[in-house]
Amino acid sequence: MQGTPTKTAVEPARAEVSAASLDAVAAAALDGIPPTRQEALALLGSGEDVLLDVVAAGARVRRRFFGDRVKLNFLINMKSGACSEDCSYCSQRRGSDAEVLKYPWLDPGAIADLADLAAAGGARRVCLVAAGKGPNQRDIGRVTKAIEEIRGRRPELEICTCLGLLGGAQAEQLRDAGADAYNHNVNTSEEHYGEVCSTHSFADRVDTVRRAGHAGLSPCSGAIFGMRETDEDIVDVAFALRDLGPASVPVNFLIPFDGTPLEGEWLLTPQRCLRILALFRFVFPNVELRLGGGREIHLRTLQPLALHLANSIFLGDYLTSAGEAAEADLQMIADAGLVVDGSEREPLDSSRRGAGDKTVAPRRRGAGTELPPNA
Ligand code: SF4
Repeated sequence: MQGTPTKTAVEPARAEVSAASLDAVAAAALDGIPPTRQEALALLGSGEDVLLDVVAAGARVRRRFFGDRVKLNFLINMKSGACSEDCSYCSQRRGSDAEVLKYPWLDPGAIADLADLAAAGGARRVCLVAAGKGPNQRDIGRVTKAIEEIRGRRPELEICTCLGLLGGAQAEQLRDAGADAYNHNVNTSEEHYGEVCSTHSFADRVDTVRRAGHAGLSPCSGAIFGMRETDEDIVDVAFALRDLGPASVPVNFLIPFDGTPLEGEWLLTPQRCLRILALFRFVFPNVELRLGGGREIHLRTLQPLALHLANSIFLGDYLTSAGEAAEADLQMIADAGLVVDGSEREPLDSSRRGAGDKTVAPRRRGAGTELPPNA
């Protein structure tokens, strides 16, 4: 008896990818034209023999629009854990047994102190994040105080907020307080969304991104890969995001936390991560593409190649897990021949950089609390 066909079992035959076809995709991207669905699927299914051609084609597009610059961003987890939602990838979901920090709202001064640290490390944007389905009015009041505190100290910093599902009036309050941007990732394709979360929908997330944009906040929305999605899902979410017109697009790779439903899901290879990033670069040629969570554990030694596709990374730790030491990331950027965006310095010469030449101290989540770091 035949089993139920899966999405992958009925995939059509894919076109071959060659250096010439990649040249055509890159040339189109330079003119602002995204790949066709067939080209996108072919790229995702391409072999190791053309991997460097894929990266080189994406890198041409990245160079054209972003030169040798890498933008640094810094996450501030203002309220951690105990969320009501059940996003299966998230260590803060309801019922999560992941051993992550749980703490209530940091006070505005502690949040601004972290923003100072971020600015000193070269970050141009801070992302103020709180776990939860969405903010209530009291939460909005807390966040607007934090924004005002940061604005008073660091007028040059871009401030992004990420508070879950947002109402239109709340978006306007954040904007009026001085927020520049709002992040809400759609995370995966609409078709796959029900496999990832049952407590809210893909459409809910899309609505929030739209509301943020309508209120004048720069919309930031991206995805997470490695959650059992098919190549079709990857293409679908890329095109759905393009329709939303975000100003920045984070690409995350699943950190499969113990104690979550996706514990033990190690489905990605460094090569697959690079193909996904290249696809996103072609779909978003002139949009900030941010290499997000999971880069260290999935790209591993190929991270520098990813910097030739993405033009933006997070510095330091993620919301509930340790990131790379900031010093190591700055070294990687310099070694790749790239320069931190907004840096007053000349490009760092890696041959002259020594152990005593430190500019940034690594940070740990839990700042502002008595709790230990959750490395
Ligand atoms: S709404 Fe946000 S914090 Fe809550 S489970 Fe989903 S991703 Fe995690």
